[in-house]
Amino acid sequence: MAATTFYDLDHFRADFPILCQTVHGYPLAFLDNAASTQKPADVITATKKFYETGYANVHRGAYWLSEQATRQYEGARERVRAFINARHVEEIIFTRGATESINLVAATWGQTYLQAGDEVVLTWLEHHSNIVPWQMLASAKGLTLKVVPVDDEGRFLWEAYQSLLSSRTRFVAVTHVSNVLGTILPVKDIVAAAHAVGAKVLIDGCQAVPHMAVDVCDLACDFYVFSGHKLYGPTGIGVLYGREVLLQNMPPYQGGGDMIASVTFEKAHWAGLPYKFEAGTPAVAQAIGLAAAIDYIESIGLSAIAVHEADLLHYATQRLAGIRGLRFLCPAPQQTKTSVLSFTLDCAHPHDIATIVDRYGVAIRAGHHCAQPLMQRFGVPATARASFGLYNTREEADALADALERVRGIFGP
Ligand code: PMP
Repeated sequence: MAATTFYDLDHFRADFPILCQTVHGYPLAFLDNAASTQKPADVITATKKFYETGYANVHRGAYWLSEQATRQYEGARERVRAFINARHVEEIIFTRGATESINLVAATWGQTYLQAGDEVVLTWLEHHSNIVPWQMLASAKGLTLKVVPVDDEGRFLWEAYQSLLSSRTRFVAVTHVSNVLGTILPVKDIVAAAHAVGAKVLIDGCQAVPHMAVDVCDLACDFYVFSGHKLYGPTGIGVLYGREVLLQNMPPYQGGGDMIASVTFEKAHWAGLPYKFEAGTPAVAQAIGLAAAIDYIESIGLSAIAVHEADLLHYATQRLAGIRGLRFLCPAPQQTKTSVLSFTLDCAHPHDIATIVDRYGVAIRAGHHCAQPLMQRFGVPATARASFGLYNTREEADALADALERVRGIFGP
């Protein structure tokens, strides 16, 4: 698709076949993009075409079809490299998703280089997948986890972070953007401060890459992770970026085919990067689909998407603010967040809210959003969450507001 100079929303919506359906007799308003995004026809077609005309296992076959599949799979890796501006294609490891990417770093770098008494710094804004792997490692190795607090608007507290850093800090694992609040963290500064005390930094970019351009060289981070399915790509594919020198000096994560140079019963020698970390048959079709997703969003332009989503956020915030008894979890200023709105209603539990608005075709999330510590911080067991993507419309924000008024009508005075 050619680059567009204005935001042709109708055209982009038509690229997503799933969006044209009705749910319970109402047009589908898909507002759960922070959980997962829908797939454009380009992604579906690229995957289908691969299975129809190009499918074979990669790296092993001496035959034409396998060479073609390998070329496409490695082409996808290069596409990801360019997308986040990594220096070397060997720094891009394909995983099953962000969760696996984080577990990989904890189980390899963490297992090798951290020892009892070392400190790992997290934030209150983390998803469970950037908490639990570090907790598991901490209990196995006697590490201490330190957690940077957030203020009442969900903002990362810089002074508190600085006061937690010391010569004992060996690792900092932070989200780029909160999946509950949309808060954007000052990751470049976080990295610089961590490096100043000699710590390495992993950034969880799941909620950032669909909304903003990411340049891992500019951030100077050591590791950056994200999932394909939140980036309009397939499930079952994720990315771990790691600085080459670090990856080279980490042991493999899993053993098996494809990650070795040679094997005897006495010993195995590891393959070079990136294959050392990709044991077994990889998710070839999913990697190709992810590359198609990146092509697609770059054809629209991340800055154009960001402007559109900021408008939606502003509009939806105003619409929802008019609903009696609705409380936003964090009324953070627009410019410091992405297009996510977490809220509660005084008259209904978030699960009831989500179930009822679904009857009007509106898909939102309810629950703890895999961020139970953050829920505890704000004193709520759960919230309802609407999150907007490149294809959402003001009419869908209206549909949400209207459905919430109906919830009020059912439960409230
Ligand atoms: N980190 C964040 C910030 C997320 O929002 C999510 C998904 N909700 C994850 C990590 C985990 O991603 P996945 O389930 O795709 O591995």
